[in-house]
Amino acid sequence: MELNSRVPSGPLADKWSNHRFSNKLVNPANRRKYKVIVVGTGLAGASASATLAEQGYNVQTFCIQDSPRRAHSIAAQGGINAAKNYQNDGDSIHRLFYDTIKGGDFRAREANVYRLAEVSNEIIDQCVAQGVPFAREYGGTLANRSFGGAQVSRTFYARGQTGQQLLLGAYSALSRQIHAGKVEMFTRREMMDVVLVDGQARGITTRNIMTGEVETFWADVVILATGGYGNAYFLSTNAMASNVTAAWRAHKKGAGFANPSFVQIHPTCIPVHGDYQSKLTLMSESLRNDGRVWVPKNPGDKRHPSEIPEEDRDYYLENKYPSFGNLVPRDVASRNAKEQCDAGKGVGNTGLAVYLDFAEAIRRDGEETILKKYGNLFQMYEKITDSNPLVEPMMIYPAVHYTMGGLWVDYDLMTTIPGLFAIGECNFSDHGANRLGASALMQGLADGYFIIATSVAHYLGTTSMEKISGTEAPFKDSKREVEDRIDMLLKNSSGGPAGKLTVDEIHKELGRLLWDNCGMARNKEDLEKALEELPEIRQKFWDYVYVPGDGKALNQSLERAGRVADFLEFAEIMIRDALAREESCGCHLREESQTEENEAKRDDENFMHVAVWEHVSSDEPPKLHKEMLDFEFVTPSQRSYK
Ligand SMILES: Cc1cc2nc3c(=O)[nH]c(=O)nc-3n(C[C@H](O)[C@H](O)[C@H](O)COP(=O)(O)OP(=O)(O)OC[C@H]3O[C@@H](n4cnc5c(N)ncnc54)[C@H](O)[C@@H]3O)c2cc1C
Repeated sequence: MELNSRVPSGPLADKWSNHRFSNKLVNPANRRKYKVIVVGTGLAGASASATLAEQGYNVQTFCIQDSPRRAHSIAAQGGINAAKNYQNDGDSIHRLFYDTIKGGDFRAREANVYRLAEVSNEIIDQCVAQGVPFAREYGGTLANRSFGGAQVSRTFYARGQTGQQLLLGAYSALSRQIHAGKVEMFTRREMMDVVLVDGQARGITTRNIMTGEVETFWADVVILATGGYGNAYFLSTNAMASNVTAAWRAHKKGAGFANPSFVQIHPTCIPVHGDYQSKLTLMSESLRNDGRVWVPKNPGDKRHPSEIPEEDRDYYLENKYPSFGNLVPRDVASRNAKEQCDAGKGVGNTGLAVYLDFAEAIRRDGEETILKKYGNLFQMYEKITDSNPLVEPMMIYPAVHYTMGGLWVDYDLMTTIPGLFAIGECNFSDHGANRLGASALMQGLADGYFIIATSVAHYLGTTSMEKISGTEAPFKDSKREVEDRIDMLLKNSSGGPAGKLTVDEIHKELGRLLWDNCGMARNKEDLEKALEELPEIRQKFWDYVYVPGDGKALNQSLERAGRVADFLEFAEIMIRDALAREESCGCHLREESQTEENEAKRDDENFMHVAVWEHVSSDEPPKLHKEMLDFEFVTPSQRSYK
């Protein structure tokens, strides 16, 4: 597998504009001769579809949901970063670049991160022009708030519904193109395979979720915008339909998968409260602007928070990290919460929670001001927990939230399969082992609105390809393989459920294996044990999974079974990747790699690379390749937030 990142040469600040200039273009009149498939309608996919169609390409767009605007992106709460420096507090493109590359623990490409910071400002202009209702100051200028790991206020937001408002903007742009006939929209289709003709990505195979029909579609270029794989852990803050299937199928057809063990753990989620829970809910990081994190000083103190006086409380983040306080990056906040709970100071019934307290902010600014900023989050919290954060502190605990691993892509966002592009959370993040917030939305929209069209034009302008009709042998083979796989998933359905296991039961077992051994803290021994146990769970799945019904109609158990089967395969490269990376970085503490103060310790000498996995065959272990990272413009420093 060849990994050519195709990073342009020249000064950092000029790379993107030089690249755009040197890339080939497709004449507007010729664009209508090309067909592009976009899978996914989150922020990345919807913005890419709209942009490419606006430019004149014929686009076919696919998503699992009944409406493109129900993609997972709608759940994003806190905000999106941009280097506008509206607050005049010292921000700049270079500072956003620096904070993002540092926040990604120097495990990202400088050129990609700089481009991201550069494009961030255009995103805000584009979205404002679309009518996205970002929060504004009294005088009418756009408001900003602070997010963890940054000392400037650069996060643009729309209360706690930033993702929803941004997605409505992208959805409007997409709808305009659907109406204009330039985008053909296929909802309720799940991509099950990518089709290669002469080594180039030329189509996809999908299952119609409503009728069960397996169909194939051909194109000149295929773009995957299928989101992240946090649901491998069973419990996560992701939407229930988020999955790894499209990316995993592409991987099995030859696309390298980068840094699969890079998972962001978010410190402020509503804690797990029972065995039958199927989903976790995020409480936005923005709450840490005003909420103070604390636990009782004494282990086992079970008093109601209102009965615990100030002197018996430990505001451990403020005490330990005075310069960042409650706004330390996500990994630091998460690890410290776990540490407090492991020391017996956790609160609530399970002891796996810490307090996030708004009492002081309410005393200082008044209820009305606090509700203006966080009203919908308070309401959501109260609905789920039946406790009012205006009256008693929230309880929070870290949870799986966002995945930085994904399909390896070059500077043009192309995977190792020619003609197959990956954008948004589906690719391996521009921001490396990211521990910060508000950068995922930025990347999704940068990729979709501003980068992918340049890449597609260059690819089409420089590549010769055969004319096809979608009836060639690779399409037929792919369809048959997908149908065979569906039959395999249904093979245990006869004879009823007795003695068998549900999809969720097996998914939970996988989730526990990953959370316990490949979660926030990892060590060699546990990872090796997990690698041994994984094939047993996989075997159990194929021997005992019970999928009621058949494949010829809506069957949600079948959909979930297919996704879990892929998670079970994918988990192997997650664990192998975590095992191979013998350093702490990003959100992961590798227990063998700590400073004397028990902080995460990177190993730049041995791990300054992107780890890229190649699928060899079902009988052989995956192969590890490395893309070495050079730092020409910043000097990697050990992190300190004290
Ligand atoms: C609760 C929550 C809050 C967040 N808040 C923030 C925030 O404030 N700021 C920030 O920067 N980031 C935030 N994030 C992260 C951010 O929301 C995501 O990274 C981002 O929205 C991903 O966008 P996307 O377009 O790449 O994918 P998604 O929005 O996940 O969209 C994926 C699309 O692909 C489709 N799809 C998937 N698989 C298939 C398949 N096999 N076949 C067909 N279609 C498929 C889906 O139907 C969907 O349309 C948050 C994440 C969570 C979970």
